[in-house]
Amino acid sequence: MNTFKLRRETYQVILSDKLAVGSQHPILVQSMTNTPTQNVTATVEQIKELYIAGSAVVRLTVKDEAAAEAVPLIVSELNKQGFQIPLVGDFHYNGHLLLAKYPKCAEVLAKYRINPGNVGYGEKHDYNFSTIINIAKDLDKPVRIGVNWGSLDQDLLSDFMEINAEKPDSEKISFKEVIYEAMTASALRSAELAIGEGLKQEKIVISVKMSEVQDLINIYRRVAAACKFPLHLGLTEAGTPVKGMISSSVAMGILLSEGIGDTIRMSLTPSADDKKLNPLADRTLEVQACQELLQAMDIAFFKPSITSCPGCGRTSSTYFQKLAEEINQFTQVNMKAWQGKYPGAEKLKIAVMGCIVNGPGESKYADIGISLPGDNESPKAPVFIDGKQVKTLEGENIATEFKQIILNYLEERFLSVV
Ligand code: SF4
Repeated sequence: MNTFKLRRETYQVILSDKLAVGSQHPILVQSMTNTPTQNVTATVEQIKELYIAGSAVVRLTVKDEAAAEAVPLIVSELNKQGFQIPLVGDFHYNGHLLLAKYPKCAEVLAKYRINPGNVGYGEKHDYNFSTIINIAKDLDKPVRIGVNWGSLDQDLLSDFMEINAEKPDSEKISFKEVIYEAMTASALRSAELAIGEGLKQEKIVISVKMSEVQDLINIYRRVAAACKFPLHLGLTEAGTPVKGMISSSVAMGILLSEGIGDTIRMSLTPSADDKKLNPLADRTLEVQACQELLQAMDIAFFKPSITSCPGCGRTSSTYFQKLAEEINQFTQVNMKAWQGKYPGAEKLKIAVMGCIVNGPGESKYADIGISLPGDNESPKAPVFIDGKQVKTLEGENIATEFKQIILNYLEERFLSVV
């Protein structure tokens, strides 16, 4: 049993006739393309890859006229290929101009993401912001107000610093806390401004991204306590894959366990290699990582989980590593097909272990487990189902036979009778 707090209560934001964000709905995984948006073919391909990997919503940059012209073509091509994927347009500096000049782009996007620090300054800010909000209001589109530490409105930050400087020493807060206050104010004031323009409160999602773990936790706790808007979580500029996944998981894991967060993204820097040669270069890694996080926390389930040991000096060969990888691939590749046929298969727990020390114990704890022979052990691999040893595999075909055992188990335990 997990020890989570209840999800924080939020407004419900509808993204499409099938998808909504907020506390009554599952936490959604999001991602963002890195292709030039004006390259329709490449962008369509990547959106499909991200969606198939499990990204419920895909964001793409709309940075100029060519991108704004491409957006309707992208949506049309996706629809032609049978994909109805909610797309979020990411606007900075010129969103007011692009959304006004390209109404088709404005119409086909499911949501607009705007950054209050990049909408203009002074009176221009209010005018530009109002233009975007009014387009969203007229087209009934939700808006994510996405404040980023790196592009926080500097005038606002200066105001907060001045206020702090004028306080008596005993009441002064740290520079970090001034930033938290300024970012919170930027998000909430923008939301108020939007509501003042007539946008419904159920059309607003907020994010307040920072790049350090403790900062992210602190700022989101503040914002969560101060409003009922759904929150999109993400550590901005999280870094290269290993660092980014760890930092993002720690920060978002803590917030999610406190009931904070309605959509999530891991902003990983993919490796520059060919993705066929290096999985860390695959853009879908950020989607897989979000799914692993939600699954590790028992919040949502996407595919069977594979428990495997790290191996050590007792491991007789690399065979158990290969088997663990092969079973992982096997479940990943087949999960789409299993979803309809075997409802609940995503909760299956499989163990692939390297020797007798922890092998039988972990295998018994899983639904299905195999304990491969370690160094100096008899070359046999006991298989456990629901805690009982049912079989011993040996020889060349262990992988094939073990996969068949998994399929038999799915058939017996999860087959849909509808
Ligand atoms: S289960 Fe055996 S092989 Fe795997 S890490 Fe533990 S002792 Fe080593």
